[in-house]
Amino acid sequence: KKYVYYFGDGKAEGTAQMKDLLGGKGAGLAEMTNLGIPVPSGFTITTEACREYFKQGKRFPNGMWEEVLTHLKRVEKSMGCKFGDPKNPLLVSVRSGAKFSMPGMMDTVLNLGLNDDTLKGLIDKTNNERFAYDTYRRFITMFGSIVTDIDRKKFEDLLDKVKEKKGVKLDTELDAKDFKAIVKKYKELYKKETGKEFPSDPYEQLKMAIKAVFDSWYGDRAVTYRKLHGIPDDLGTACNIVAMVYGNMGENSGTGVGFTRNPSTGEKRFFAEFLPNAQGEDVVAGIRTPLKIEELKKRMPKIYAQLEKICEKLEKHYRDMLDIEFTIQEGKLYMLQTRVGKRTAAAAIKIAVDMVNEKLIDKKTALLRIEPEQLNQLLHPTIDSTANVKVIAKGLPASPGAAVGRVVFSAQDAEEWAEKGERVILVRNETSPEDIGGMAAAQGILTARGGMTSHAAVVGRGMGKCCVVGCGAININEEEKYFTVSDIKVKEGDYITLNGTTGEVILGEAPLVMPKLPQEFYTIMKWSEEISRLQVRANADTPKDARVARDFGATGIGLCRTEHMFFDAERIKAFREMIVSDTVEQRRKALDKIKPYQKEDFIGIFKEMKGLPVTIRLLDPPLHEFLPKTEEEIEGLSNDMGVSVRRIKAKIKSLEEFNPMLGHRGCRLGITYPEVYEMQVRAIMEAACELAKKKIKVIPEIMIPLVAHVNELKIMKDLTVRTAEEVMKAYNVKIKYSVGTMIELARAAITADQIAQEAEFFSFGTNDLTQSVYGLSRDDAGKFLPFYIDHKIIDEDPFISIDTEGVGQIMEIAVKRGRKTNKNLKLGICGEHGGDPASIEFCHKIGLNYVSCSPYRVPIAKLAAAHAKL
Ligand code: PEP
Ligand code: MG
Repeated sequence: KKYVYYFGDGKAEGTAQMKDLLGGKGAGLAEMTNLGIPVPSGFTITTEACREYFKQGKRFPNGMWEEVLTHLKRVEKSMGCKFGDPKNPLLVSVRSGAKFSMPGMMDTVLNLGLNDDTLKGLIDKTNNERFAYDTYRRFITMFGSIVTDIDRKKFEDLLDKVKEKKGVKLDTELDAKDFKAIVKKYKELYKKETGKEFPSDPYEQLKMAIKAVFDSWYGDRAVTYRKLHGIPDDLGTACNIVAMVYGNMGENSGTGVGFTRNPSTGEKRFFAEFLPNAQGEDVVAGIRTPLKIEELKKRMPKIYAQLEKICEKLEKHYRDMLDIEFTIQEGKLYMLQTRVGKRTAAAAIKIAVDMVNEKLIDKKTALLRIEPEQLNQLLHPTIDSTANVKVIAKGLPASPGAAVGRVVFSAQDAEEWAEKGERVILVRNETSPEDIGGMAAAQGILTARGGMTSHAAVVGRGMGKCCVVGCGAININEEEKYFTVSDIKVKEGDYITLNGTTGEVILGEAPLVMPKLPQEFYTIMKWSEEISRLQVRANADTPKDARVARDFGATGIGLCRTEHMFFDAERIKAFREMIVSDTVEQRRKALDKIKPYQKEDFIGIFKEMKGLPVTIRLLDPPLHEFLPKTEEEIEGLSNDMGVSVRRIKAKIKSLEEFNPMLGHRGCRLGITYPEVYEMQVRAIMEAACELAKKKIKVIPEIMIPLVAHVNELKIMKDLTVRTAEEVMKAYNVKIKYSVGTMIELARAAITADQIAQEAEFFSFGTNDLTQSVYGLSRDDAGKFLPFYIDHKIIDEDPFISIDTEGVGQIMEIAVKRGRKTNKNLKLGICGEHGGDPASIEFCHKIGLNYVSCSPYRVPIAKLAAAHAKL
């Protein structure tokens, strides 16, 4: 069994394809080495070794350590120095690196191999005592905090005390003697905290560090991150051991991180930041705010040119945008890492389209590069540019979009407030991986420190969350929970607005609007349409929703819930009147009030949809959602109807159901009160006829809800056809309309062969279908489903993603049986699942004709439909 893979001297045992085994970082280092890019020598311990390690109760698998020692020899040879050698010591970094990048979630130890003896070698070698002691104290800090869990703050406090005593502010103002004293103090701290001497044997150090890297896989931060990003828990991490190079050896040294293209906008230009005379951790941790890469071009033009060439080479090779980490040691460039770069949705679509134009990738690859869910970011609102807002500070625009919320100063508060339904903005000096839960819960993130590649920026972009970083103008008082900008004081709970596109911080709640979409968005939509088989329709109940849907390229309305047309203070009155009516006369009177509203809406929707099919569902109100509740509502109703409050109350009582979702709703209402559905069909057909007379094309599809038995559909269809024919006769026009049904009860799905004989189309109402097949109440499941998911009893909420094993099978049965008796049966889905990429893939697989989802999810569904085909 081979647990260790070498890279160095222009050749590597691994390749980019071996991410599963070597992790992203290890695979990237191997590939760069093979490409002839300068990388310090090193080796990768596989993820398999990590998995074995846990399997064997945290013990290195047999033979692994011996392999490590053998490969360490190769690194020594390649670098011309020896691990533990007091004259010419090799120092290494020990870094985690899983298959999927988890920025800052796991641990790294730098400068490993230092002890009092090798330190002398380092001093001789570099002729720089200050540098050597600085390196030593950094090593003890990292080792102590990561390998033995000593609170990092304790090290920092000691450092601060020395600075205070000396009357200086910056690390750079400390000299060799100061660092020497600090090293001594650090070692004492180590002993006090662990009860042991700081390990001086470099091999002992290495063993402990590798264990710590493996252990970090199950660290709290990593576990949370994986949960948020759906990364499996059993992959394990690789461990990379790489010869150290130093960016902190003077002004011709430095370190930086960057992207081959702009990760925020996608602009095709090398985008990076660097810090002269610094080590990598300074940049990534956001401790010092780095300089723009243009500064490197000024200071070291040759290195800059070399970097640009490397970026070009990497992009050509990987055919993707990459992120890179590099260090310059005394004028020599080393690449420390590369991997496919995280990017915003805007950048993702621009890069994908640009790369097709540059002939780097084909259209299919371009589509697959964009996660459907990512498009959500683009559909987020931005700040209305015409609004008068009070900008109080400006930071770096780390992740675009806008966020409005109340200020909180800790991740924990962010989570707690968000749980109570508050929108919050998390404000921190800098974020650390512990903050991840709070960042996810917040609308936006604001930090006082850190650059475009700091933790907050990288994680914010990954989450598609509005984020402004490095906003130096704000002074945060975490203890008393406020921040100030000059003379303005913003307290916990105050509203602010962030503009992640400009970096502006605005006092109060700014008005938001929908952004203008970039041209590349429409290109991606066009390519998606070309490729996919599934059509995408929208669920829309108003002309306004219909317009949004059409603008996003919906090919029709898949569900217009007519009862939703009454969510309006005026209209609901007439609707309630209808519900509580005792007699047909009373009901007809109420219906006469309702009909004009309906007709007006149908006309508006038909017009917006310009000849595309519109599926209108006849009334399906679970009655409990519509009954009057307050005394005031009841009194109003009593006045309007001229019926006593007592009688109305009695009626409400009689309408109460124990199980309203399985109660007197859907076609059961239409069958017992046919005048209701008749009115609706009239409104639909009159609207259609009036438009047809004006030569406006309309395709109404009338849909009967909650059918369980074919006879229900038969009766309702007869009523619909009879009424429609009457209306068309009266208007003297012929309109092509169709009648179909929802499939949302188990019985309907199973008897689909009978039902299909009466229906021209089926639309799967997977909300109710999940409820009835799974036996889960739509209204109450929220009380225990999260527990099920947390405890891995089920993987996912079946109301969000179709339960393919259960509900999905019933759908397949319905498709097969339906098509058997009706070859021309049109099939769609209009439950909430119609906008969920995984469910869309399933709908494609079982051969539906279309999915229908909320208007703002139409672009996501279109891309997902293309992905399903690819
Ligand atoms: C459904 O049940 O999936 C559906 C679309 O109808 P509603 O959500 O209105 O019950
Ligand atoms: Mg339903």
